[in-house]
Amino acid sequence: RSIQRLLVANRGEIACRVMRSARALGIGSVAVHSDIDRHARHVAEADITVDLGGAKPADSYLRGDRIIAAALASGAQAIHPGYGFLSENADFARACEEAGLLFLGPPAAAIDAMGSKSAAKALMEEAGVPLVPGYHGEAQDLETFRREAGRIGYPVLLKAAAGGGGKGMKVVEHEAELAEALSSAQREAKAAFGDARMLVEKYLLKPRHVEIQVFADSHGHCLYLNERDCSIQRRHQKVVEEAPAPGLGAELRRAMGEAAVRAAQAIGYVGAGTVEFLLDERGQFFFMEMNTRLQVEHPVTEAITGLDLVAWQIRVARGEALPLTQEQVPLNGHAIEVRLYAEDPEGGFLPASGRLALYREAPAGPGRRVDSGVREGDEVSPFYDPMLAKLIAYGATRDEARRKLIRVLERCVLLGVDGNQRFLANLLAHPDFAAGEATTAFIGERFAEDPSLQPRQPGAEELALAAALLYQAGAEASAHQPGLAGWRSAAGAPWKIVLKHAEQRLEIGLEVLESGRRPRLLARLERREIAVRLLDCDGRWASAELDGIRRRHAYHLDGGRLWLYGHGGNLELLDVTHAGASVQVGASSGTLKAPMDGAIVEVLVGEGERVGKGQLLLVLEAMKMEHPLKAGVDGVVRRVQVGRGEQVRNRQVLVEVEADA
Ligand code: ADP
Repeated sequence: RSIQRLLVANRGEIACRVMRSARALGIGSVAVHSDIDRHARHVAEADITVDLGGAKPADSYLRGDRIIAAALASGAQAIHPGYGFLSENADFARACEEAGLLFLGPPAAAIDAMGSKSAAKALMEEAGVPLVPGYHGEAQDLETFRREAGRIGYPVLLKAAAGGGGKGMKVVEHEAELAEALSSAQREAKAAFGDARMLVEKYLLKPRHVEIQVFADSHGHCLYLNERDCSIQRRHQKVVEEAPAPGLGAELRRAMGEAAVRAAQAIGYVGAGTVEFLLDERGQFFFMEMNTRLQVEHPVTEAITGLDLVAWQIRVARGEALPLTQEQVPLNGHAIEVRLYAEDPEGGFLPASGRLALYREAPAGPGRRVDSGVREGDEVSPFYDPMLAKLIAYGATRDEARRKLIRVLERCVLLGVDGNQRFLANLLAHPDFAAGEATTAFIGERFAEDPSLQPRQPGAEELALAAALLYQAGAEASAHQPGLAGWRSAAGAPWKIVLKHAEQRLEIGLEVLESGRRPRLLARLERREIAVRLLDCDGRWASAELDGIRRRHAYHLDGGRLWLYGHGGNLELLDVTHAGASVQVGASSGTLKAPMDGAIVEVLVGEGERVGKGQLLLVLEAMKMEHPLKAGVDGVVRRVQVGRGEQVRNRQVLVEVEADA
């Protein structure tokens, strides 16, 4: 069957990436989009675009009916679902076929077979694929789980049968925590998947996540395209992915590859799929689940094999046979990928939204690939996954790829929205990662303690530059507004600028030696004086001489908030010079605010109750995850401003605790 035009039922980087392969094969592309994505990058890159309406996924990218209608109306013969959204929805795959459209994924029956982690485990048991010890039966009552968890032995892991993306997943250390964990996981699963069914597994302590890329054609051939190691995870979500897995021998690769092919063949698989395993210290591997779609991390496999997996998906959908035999599958060099997210690593990794005021990606080049879904000026909306781009580096050796990727990260400028670059660069630079020894426990165990992973303190030069930029912005504002005349502008006058970074208060004395367009200033920091000459600042880039050394920084000033791009990441500084005592710096506050838009799913305290610092007050559900909100101080609850089930906005005040004197 021929494909002249392909509709991509997705957004962001994966939509752009799929269209790129389509173009290379001479196939036209159709983008679909929600109302708020009208100006998104994937829309700009498509030949034809169709507005699905809505903003929420349920009103847009999950509207299978509208997507199929869009494909028919635009003359597409095939639909690529990307990942997430409808990619593992068997009903959608079926509806495509019924409408006479090719679905670029496996047959609906194969999606169904792997759709439930419980059913998949039962099937794999039959196919002779090793499983993590656990219970995946029908009975769902607390007693059954208590008995089964006791049999397996704690710690155990509760998982949503319909799960994905770490949702509905809870580690339980002791029997005493089981009941609460089960009901919370069931709630999360119900909200995210409309299905509360759970399974329970032995929680392996320091495994590695090693997954096998499989590919099958419709003529009965199935290959494995080597493995990927995705052990670097935060809360069971992948952060860094690489291929091949460090230290995996040829024998183990073959054993895992063959088990994965067995898994795929057991369900009549066609197309690209991934069989995920946990690998323990003794080299034993256990089936976890099969993802019946293209994975986020497929580029590392493409890098070491030189293959284009999306092109293969298109060929297989057209009915062509796989072009290689198992022996011919290449494995050259090493590739590493990181996921660039709009999120705040310093604030518990909560998703961030807002405008990408300044956004520059490292240029692609030999051994460097950037799969991006955004452009400068785009709005990162709270409605969708906050992944902005994937950064991939490839080298002859793992260490070469690792060092290249750190450079790629450092050259990626992202201002206006919180990002995780510095966190990623710190991870890649960590000796345990460099040694290839990290397990899935790495971030959880090391992040809290390891200073190399902590938010970096602003350097003296950065603080001096920040103070100079704020001075200059004030001086320019006063030149335009006579009422403000003289504000921070008179030469010779000493100024004090107070900045807040994380929870720290930083004071910088500023002496104005020469004002004007290129002011000369002397910045006095705690232990140093730095002479600053601002050469140029246009609202985006600042050039300055600091103690005679010229530097160029990206920056973005938004009210009293200054974003300064330093080496490998953002610094976000708040100008609190004039805030006086109203801004409590350093002290925890008794006012609990919503960290993001969401819904309150639990209220655990009432007015008049005494609470301790760190006590759980509310549970907020946002982005389909539950977030515990805790008391910042010891004290008495004066007001509870929300009820269970209520929708709340970012920064809305939820609870007031009167702190003990
Ligand atoms: P999801 O589909 O929600 O992503 P997975 O079943 O793929 O969930 O598991 C995600 C991650 O959770 C794995 O990569 C692994 O790090 C961890 N994990 C899953 N099962 C276990 C287990 N039994 N023991 C230890 N870690 C596990």
